[in-house]
Amino acid sequence: MTPLLETDEQKALRSAVCALGTRHGRDHDRAALWSEAGKLGYLGVNLPQEYGGGGGGIAELSIVLEELGAAGCPLLMLIVSPAICGTVISRFGTDAQKQEWLPGLADGTRTMAFGITEPDAGSNSHRITTTARRDGDTGDWLLTGRKVFVSGVDIADATLIVGRTEDARTGRLKPCLFIVPRDAPGFGRRLIDMELHAAEKQFELVLDDVRLPADALVGDEDAGLLQLFAGLNPERVMTAAFAIGMGRHALSRAVEYARERAVWKTPIGAHQAIAHPLAQAHIDLELARLMMQKAAHLYDSGDDIGAGEAANMAKYAAGEACVKAVDQAVHTLGGNGLTREFGLASLVTAARVARIAPVSREMILNYVSHQTLGLPKSY
Ligand SMILES: Cc1cc2nc3c(=O)[nH]c(=O)nc-3n(C[C@H](O)[C@H](O)[C@H](O)COP(=O)(O)OP(=O)(O)OC[C@H]3O[C@@H](n4cnc5c(N)ncnc54)[C@H](O)[C@@H]3O)c2cc1C
Repeated sequence: MTPLLETDEQKALRSAVCALGTRHGRDHDRAALWSEAGKLGYLGVNLPQEYGGGGGGIAELSIVLEELGAAGCPLLMLIVSPAICGTVISRFGTDAQKQEWLPGLADGTRTMAFGITEPDAGSNSHRITTTARRDGDTGDWLLTGRKVFVSGVDIADATLIVGRTEDARTGRLKPCLFIVPRDAPGFGRRLIDMELHAAEKQFELVLDDVRLPADALVGDEDAGLLQLFAGLNPERVMTAAFAIGMGRHALSRAVEYARERAVWKTPIGAHQAIAHPLAQAHIDLELARLMMQKAAHLYDSGDDIGAGEAANMAKYAAGEACVKAVDQAVHTLGGNGLTREFGLASLVTAARVARIAPVSREMILNYVSHQTLGLPKSY
């Protein structure tokens, strides 16, 4: 694929990360790849230089994730650790929080997970009930609630938990963000048995009066949604990168196979029934990337509002393109599409993640119908 709208530095980053990904490949050791990518500066390309980052933006970080995914070794935690948590801390954290977290997030020696989804709220994050209350005069916070599907809590030093303050139990979401260390007393986790072949696991979390110091709160207690969306827009752009990378990986394996495999007199790739859907998959991935680049550009230039719509559209387009590319890739390999050896069957479930998380296809269609087209709401 020819990258569009990229600077020479971004192109150089793309090819350097591609080389790293190709060396590690599909059978990679996640921790080893994470550590090497951290040392090379790729995990923190979006974080401020004064805290050890690369001084770039989400455009650069999405290149890193897309290229690792295209090589068959996506690092899911890039979506949460530097993209959501790193961004929120750099934009809204105190100097002390920045000093404590950003250098480690940038070089990969520390990782942060992100928990917003709740069992009884799901797509309706206005309904979250994880609640923070002040403990008398100590200034401490006590956090209570439940989260579900939170990725990588076991490998993360802490989880950035979205809660709400006690006086805001009803009405619109007034979220506040807390850094909860992995081993904080009262912070329990249970592994969810997912049908996914990924190094990063998902957890259900129980927070039972988890005591946190006053400085566990990131940003302003009253700044609410603005701060949250500063992290959620990068998450959407990065999920698009994750999906495009996976789609490219599946497509390239299918194309390679279709060029070689011959059961009549020509390779199967000569049959248009095989070739055209692969060509369509390529076009859809390219189009999704174009929207992802637009979203990243808007976000990096400080247009949070404009980035919101574009990031949603990019996530939607990339999720759909990924699901279709993987489906067609599996089909192209015939029976081999379902063997472990060729590694495509497991992508069928993995690709669905990009359709459902972090915000589902339907919720994006809702967003576009209401926000962009001005249609009324059904809920
Ligand atoms: C692999 C994986 C990793 C994840 N990692 C994290 C993480 O690290 N941190 C985190 O906080 N969360 C994480 N999630 C959770 C993810 O963000 C949620 O699964 C997602 O937001 C959807 O919520 P839900 O699963 O509760 O689905 P629900 O909200 O129950 O939705 C179920 C279905 O109903 C549809 N639906 C719901 N409301 C409407 C409506 N108004 N109109 C039309 N359709 C509707 C949805 O589109 C969906 O198809 C992860 C999920 C997965 C699968």
